[in-house]
Amino acid sequence: MSRTVLITGGNRGIGLSIARAFADNGDKVAVTSRSGEAPEGLFGVRCDVTDPESARRAVAEVEAQYGPVAVLVSNAGITRDALAPMMSEEDFEDVLQTNLVGSFRMARLVSRSMISAKWGRIVFISSIMGFLGSPGQSNYAASKSGMLGLTRSLAWELGSRNVTVNMVTPGLIETEMIEKVTDKRRAQLLAQTPLRRTGAPEEVAEVVKFLASDGAAYVTGSAIPIGGGIGMGQ
Ligand code: NDP
Repeated sequence: MSRTVLITGGNRGIGLSIARAFADNGDKVAVTSRSGEAPEGLFGVRCDVTDPESARRAVAEVEAQYGPVAVLVSNAGITRDALAPMMSEEDFEDVLQTNLVGSFRMARLVSRSMISAKWGRIVFISSIMGFLGSPGQSNYAASKSGMLGLTRSLAWELGSRNVTVNMVTPGLIETEMIEKVTDKRRAQLLAQTPLRRTGAPEEVAEVVKFLASDGAAYVTGSAIPIGGGIGMGQ
């Protein structure tokens, strides 16, 4: 059955790979971007997840086009790195607003129709840094570990309605986001990665697609690492 799938930040990077994976699966895929421009072959809506009205409008547009959202992938995310003594409160708050509050906002907006349908899948894109901590990323790591409490609370709230809520914790994945990572830091992270390589966005997409599938019907409240083994056991 073709489902309506909404992916925030689906215009590039990991989000775009996830969008393509669902589209190949035959789902009706909508992606958000702040410019509103959609990648070729995908339905795009303009959305800034930090703006409640923009988020509400985006969900309404997707519903008007494809019907109620059955699968939400909350992927939009940013970094604003600095060591804590040098980090502005604004940079701390911007990252929390986008990564954590934005995820809550989108989940809240789609959860009502999932409850009515007695079926739904929510997948949050977190990061292994939320578990490991990361120098210069107190804002980012806090936002990503905060998603665990969000995931597990929503799993409790929505479980009786057959809505599963999970998150994935990618390691180092080759996208624009890690272009700023220094060679030294990259080498450090790879030394902690048993597979000794970075991941491809498609390798994240496959796991997300599984979490939204019928095969994962009994998986909820979980945090699935996708990082070549980095942070295993966390
Ligand atoms: P990119 O920087 O390539 O993409 C980020 C996406 O988020 C873009 O689509 C961007 O849209 C969107 N976005 C940012 N801010 C907002 C906002 N306020 N409202 C709506 N959309 C927004 O990063 P990745 O693809 O690498 O990252 C995707 C997710 O994966 C993020 O949550 C990131 O934290 C997570 N992640 C990435 C890892 C990596 O190594 N790459 C590792 C672990 C987790 P726009 O084009 O409009 O800016």
